[in-house]
Amino acid sequence: MLACRIHAKEDLRVENAEMPPVGPGEVLLKLGAGGICGSDLHYYFEGRNGNFVVREPLIPGHEASAVVAGIGAGVTRVRVGDKVAVSPSHACGRCEGCREGREQLCSNMRFLGSASLFPHVQGMFQEYFVMGERQCYPVGGDISLGELAFAEPLAVGLHAVNRGPDLIGKSVLITGAGTIGCVTVLAARLAGARRVTVSDILDRPLAQARTVGADVTLHAARDADALAKPQFDVAYEVSGSFAALKTCMAAIKRGGVVVQVGTLPHEPLPFVVNDVMAKEIDLRGAFRWGIEFDWAVDYLSTRRVDVRPLLSGQYPLSDAVAAFRAAADKNKSTKVQVVCS
Ligand SMILES: [Zn+2]
Ligand SMILES: [Zn+2]
Repeated sequence: MLACRIHAKEDLRVENAEMPPVGPGEVLLKLGAGGICGSDLHYYFEGRNGNFVVREPLIPGHEASAVVAGIGAGVTRVRVGDKVAVSPSHACGRCEGCREGREQLCSNMRFLGSASLFPHVQGMFQEYFVMGERQCYPVGGDISLGELAFAEPLAVGLHAVNRGPDLIGKSVLITGAGTIGCVTVLAARLAGARRVTVSDILDRPLAQARTVGADVTLHAARDADALAKPQFDVAYEVSGSFAALKTCMAAIKRGGVVVQVGTLPHEPLPFVVNDVMAKEIDLRGAFRWGIEFDWAVDYLSTRRVDVRPLLSGQYPLSDAVAAFRAAADKNKSTKVQVVCS
C-alpha cells in the first residue's frame, strides 16, 4: 500500500508502507477522498504549522472519507463495503472540556495528521489505515466519497455559526472566501441569515462564494469603503489575516458579535480593543468542532447542504505532490483532494 509522508519542508514522498493490523473494535479503511487543508499546506511548504514542527515523517490529512475494507472483533457500527466519513478528532471523553460537551476543548486531544504531539499523530493520506469504530460514520445514498470528505470542513463552518448568535434575520459578514469561508456561507444560510456578505483579497474565491449562495461579495481593497461602514450584526473572521479582523471590528454594528475562526499569524499584534469596549462587541473564538461533525455528515448525505461546487480537483494519491501544488494556488483551486480508486 501507499502512504504520503512529509519528511521536511517541500519534501513529500509517496512511499510503500506495511498494511496496518486490525484489532478488536477497529476498522480497516481504504481511503476514498482526502481533502488538502491549509494546515497540510503549511506542513508541506514550510515544514511546520505555526508552532508545530515536523520532527519525523508526517502523514498529513484530517479530512477524509473511506470505504470499510475489514472489521475487527466486536465491531457493530459498520460493515465491509460501507462508505464512511472519518472523524479525525480523538477526544478523551474524560476531561472537563469533554464532559461539558465541548470535545474541541479536550485537554488530551489527539487530532489526526498533526505534529502538535511527538511522536506525531499520523493522518489519513494513505491507501489503508485503521480507526476505532467510533471514528467511522457510515452513510447510505448516492453521496460521493469526494462530497463525504467535506464533513470535517463543513463541521468547522457549522461550529463557527453555532458559536455566534441566532442568525434568523441577521446580516452577516464573512472575511475569507476559501473552503472554510464558503462552508461558513452554507452554514449561515442554513441558520437563517437574511443577507450573507463575503470579502476576500482575490476575485476567484469571491466568485466561488457566490456559487454557494453569498448574496454580496466585496473585494478587500476595491470595496474598502463599503467594508468600513458598520452594517453587520455578526462577522466571522475566517481568513486568518489581522487586516481582516480589523475589517470585522469596523464593519460590525454596535452590540454585534465577531467570531474568530481563522488562525492568525503567531505573533503579538496591535489590537483595536477600544472597539470591543465602545461598541460592546462580543469577540468569540471557534476552534474545530464537536457535535457539528455529526450534523455535517447528515447535511451532506441528504444534500441539504451541497458542497459539490467547492471541489476543484482530485488527484490520485500517487500524485500527491501535484495535488498539494494545485491546492496552494488560490487563483485556481478551492478544495483539492487526493483519491484512491
Ligand atoms: Zn482542516
Ligand atoms: Zn477530553
